[in-house]
This record gives sequence, structure tokens and C-alpha cells, in this order.
Amino acid sequence: MEIFGRSRRQLAFAYALIMGIFLAVIIFVVHMAMNWSMFSEQAQELSDAANSVAEVQTFYLQNPYAAVDENRYFKTSNDRLFFYIFSDDKQLIRFERASFRIEQFVLDVIDSWNIDEGEVEVFRHSNEMGQLNTVMMTSKKIVTDNTTQILYVGKDVTALYSGLQKATYAQVFLGFVALLIASAIGYFMAGRALVPLKEAYDKQKQFAADASHELRTPLAVVMASADLLLADPSIENPFLRQVLEDLKSEVKKMTNLVSDLLMVARSDNNALKFKIQRLDLTEILKQVIRTMTPIAEKKDIRLAGEDFRKALINADEQKIKQLAIILVDNAIKYTPEGGAVLVRLEKVDNSRVVFAVMDSGIGIAPEDLDKVFERFYRVDKARSREMGGNGLGLAIAAEIVKLHDGKISVASKLGEGTKFTVELKVNLKK
Ligand code: ADP
Repeated sequence: MEIFGRSRRQLAFAYALIMGIFLAVIIFVVHMAMNWSMFSEQAQELSDAANSVAEVQTFYLQNPYAAVDENRYFKTSNDRLFFYIFSDDKQLIRFERASFRIEQFVLDVIDSWNIDEGEVEVFRHSNEMGQLNTVMMTSKKIVTDNTTQILYVGKDVTALYSGLQKATYAQVFLGFVALLIASAIGYFMAGRALVPLKEAYDKQKQFAADASHELRTPLAVVMASADLLLADPSIENPFLRQVLEDLKSEVKKMTNLVSDLLMVARSDNNALKFKIQRLDLTEILKQVIRTMTPIAEKKDIRLAGEDFRKALINADEQKIKQLAIILVDNAIKYTPEGGAVLVRLEKVDNSRVVFAVMDSGIGIAPEDLDKVFERFYRVDKARSREMGGNGLGLAIAAEIVKLHDGKISVASKLGEGTKFTVELKVNLKK
């Protein structure tokens, strides 16, 4: 059943979407948290290193005759750490060089330094070979009584950041795999959840089919009994005769409803008997016009056929007749007295035949156009009931067209009229 398949896909999709958003948020948060913790840890190390270098340099500035021991500058030995000390007039005083790979970049950064003292900043740079280098740097002023120097301390964190990037890629990949698995599970679970619903739906369809089938016989008996009573000359009282007439007309309405219901239920169960034969659509349309003319005449409506010519198709005669009757009957029902209904053969070629039923009636509002083919849908319930309608006519018409692999469409303007167009295949095979 199409509706269950669609619901299953929609459920699985909604589930996958929620999972996708959830996973994306998790990956994003984890990435940010790792980034933040890595940055704060490295920034702390850099600040400690800067303090240590500044302390040692201050000592040597205050004790100019002490022998300089380069090893004292960094408390911990770390070959990724580097520093440069410049005098006030931008002379390089002392340094621990950054690796050759990044030194030029580091010097350029220092050259255009405009970051507050003590702030730690990450700088990225791609070299000519496309390799991305990442350094973290901070600055500190070294002030003694007679000089001011500026210290830049940095760390090559390329490996750390590229590790973080790889970890994030791995998370995205795993997230994607998890999403695929979750979608498959979601699809499977949605299918399982729909099983009882589908069973209940099938039972309900079967019930509608059985009930309408079983109702036909008693209704036929009531109808025959009413006919019998009406034929009895001993019932002379006009009131009683009227009661019998009313009874007959109500039973007739009910019989129609029951047979419509049966038709719909059978089409749901794919149990519609379908007998394809070669027939001339024009002949059927002519017959329908003949049958419906008395009804049209009662309302003073002109019912006519137009452009009729031979139109041979493969179809089920009874069903096509029923389809044409539904459309013409509606056209007459929803057209005020004195109007016109036209049945026109619009197109006949090798592959398809198109006919239309047009009226000059009340029309259908644009927002109702899509819905008129739904079961039990009636734009104006009171008017439809008054005319003997039950809202199943067009649903059955659409079903018949579908059975013939054809198309039905409607165009309408409120107050001006409606046109139903049906396209049928010439060489339908079943
Ligand atoms: P009903 O038994 O109520 O006629 P249908 O399924 O045949 O049920 O039609 C559904 C609704 O579509 C009708 O109630 C009516 O409001 C609208 N409709 C159908 N045909 C026409 C038409 N030719 N002109 C205006 N409204 C129409």
C-alpha cells in the first residue's frame, strides 16, 4: 500500500534528520571543546615560558658582567619553543631560533605585531608546498631601570593542530557511518511499527467490503417489498402511498451509497473485476448523453456532445460508462437551471483519447480543486446531500481512470463553470 510505504520513508527520513542534527551538534561541541582545552593548555605553557625568559633576561640586564648561559632561558627543554628579544630600537638582542621551516613566517609576524602584551594568539600560514604551519605566540615587555626590551615567545603547534584536524575528520566520518546505520535501523523500525497499523487498515477495508456486500441483499428485498406494496391496489390512502414512495427513494439512495462503497472497497483490495475490450468511446459517450438527457431536461439544461468521431480504445465498458455518468451527473447537479453541459472529444490519436465534460455551473474554488477527488469530500455538504450525492463519485471516477492507466484533471472558475478532462490509453494491455 503506497500510503504505508510513504509514511515509512517519511518516518525514517525524519529520524535520520534528527540523528544527523544531533550528531553534527555533538561533533561540533567535541571539536570546540578539544580546541579550547588544547589552546588553554598551550597558552599556559607559553605564558610560563615567557615569564621564565623574561626573568632570566632581567637578571642578565641587571648583571651585565655575568657569563650568559643560554640553557637558563627555558626552564623546560622543548625544541618547539622559540623566542626573540628586541631592543627598543628594534635590534635583535638574543634568541632561540624557531625551526627553519617557520622562521621567516615568525619574523614576519613579529614585524607586524599589534597584539596586546600577554595575549596569546594562533597564527597560520601555508608554505610554498601547501603545508599548513601553525604557531602560537605571545609578547612581553622586559623593563629595567635603564632599558626596555620586548620579548616574543612562540611555539610550533603545527603537529598538535593537524592532529586535532585529523581527529575531527575521523569523527565526521564515524558520524556519517553512524548516521547511515541509524537511518537503516530507522527504516527497519518504521516498517515494523507500521505492521499492526497496516493489518488494522486491511481489516477495516475488508470490513467495508463485506458490510457493503452484505447490505445489498436486504436493501434489494426492502426495495422489492416497497414495489410490491405500491402495486397493491388495496393501498389507496394517498398518504400511505407517499410514505412508500419516500421509502423507495431513500432505499435507492442507500443502495447507491452501498454500491459506491463496495466499488471503493474493492478497488482498495485490488479486487475490482476488470474486463478489457475494444470499444468506441464515442458510442459510450453518446449512450450516456441519451441516458442523462431526461435528467438534464428536468432542470432545463442543454446536454450535448461535440466533435464526436470514432475513438477506439481498450477499456472496460461498464467502468468507462460509470465514469462518464459520474462526470455528466455532477455537471448537471452543480449547474443551475437553464445552463449547459457539453461532452467533447478533445483528441484522438494513435496513443491516446481525451474527452472532457464541461458545464456552466457554480464552479469549484481553487482551494477545493485538489480535494474533490478525495473520498467523501464535498465542497457544500448540504447541497451535495440534497442532490443525492455522497462525496464518493469523483473518488470512484479517479479510481476508474487509474485502473485504466489514464489521467483525470479538473479546471474551474467559481460562478463560471467546470471542466473535467480525462485521458485514456488507446492500447491498454492488462
Ligand atoms: P458528490 O456526490 O457530492 O457529487 P463527488 O465526489 O462526485 O461527490 O464530488 C465531490 C464534490 O466536488 C462535490 O460535492 C461538489 O462540491 C464538487 N463538484 C464535483 N463536480 C462538480 C461540478 N461539475 N461543478 C461544481 N462542483 C463540482
